[in-house]
Amino acid sequence: MKHIVSYSGGIGSWMTAKRVIEKYGKENVLLLFTDTLIEDEDLYRFIDETVKEMGTEYIVTSDGRTPWEVFKDVRWLGNSRVAQCSYHLKQKQAAEWIKANYSPDECILYLGIDWTEDHRRKAPTKNWAPYRVEFPMCEAPYLSKQDMLQALDETGIKRPRLYDLGFSHNNCGGMCVKGGQGHFIHLLKTFPDRYKWIEGYEKEMQQFLGQDVTILKRTKNKVQENLSLETLRKEYEAEQLEQIDLFDFGGCGCYVDGEEKALISCGG
Ligand code: SF4
Repeated sequence: MKHIVSYSGGIGSWMTAKRVIEKYGKENVLLLFTDTLIEDEDLYRFIDETVKEMGTEYIVTSDGRTPWEVFKDVRWLGNSRVAQCSYHLKQKQAAEWIKANYSPDECILYLGIDWTEDHRRKAPTKNWAPYRVEFPMCEAPYLSKQDMLQALDETGIKRPRLYDLGFSHNNCGGMCVKGGQGHFIHLLKTFPDRYKWIEGYEKEMQQFLGQDVTILKRTKNKVQENLSLETLRKEYEAEQLEQIDLFDFGGCGCYVDGEEKALISCGG
């Protein structure tokens, strides 16, 4: 029996791998990383070092496209409600690899969903059937993200830098389109070049689709409106902070995305 852990570079997936290895032995575990090709450079360092430390089989698979290319192909700018990148680059990619290599009775799959996200277990459990999926981080002892980061510190391996830079997830280089206003302001302050790039990409998509699409939305006077990254940046630079929801961090909802079968996560 192979125990396949969805290994994303997030701290939750690292702790999941540790628990699965502890239970079944490293020779029976396989770490599967689905690369979006826009990850932070330090995520690759983290994966390299942790894979070496754990000594398990490790597979990298990739669709070959970035989220930005997927959005053009599906003619839809990913946003906090629907982001088809997670389906094409993570879920579908992982499903194809696993189905090509293991039958349902040859493996068990493990996702890093933790006890604070218990409600997210349903969709992958249903969608992976007849494959069996387990969620070791939903089991006691219940750990917080901070606990997991401290456990990593004890190995001597450096934390993925996005956590230390204040990002809640270590994925897509801090540019996850599921992030909220606060998340993008944090990106602007931390990685102005990345913000500039994604602001330009949003404009490019508007021209490409011939529509005023935006990654963010906000509600003003009870009316929902599109909020472009250019407008958000200008408001922030003009210190019009009362218009910005700095506490809206959004979140990677890759487990529960709409059209898509929620198979696997972008990690956290
Ligand atoms: S982390 Fe965000 S941008 Fe990256 S693939 Fe997942 S949903 Fe898409």
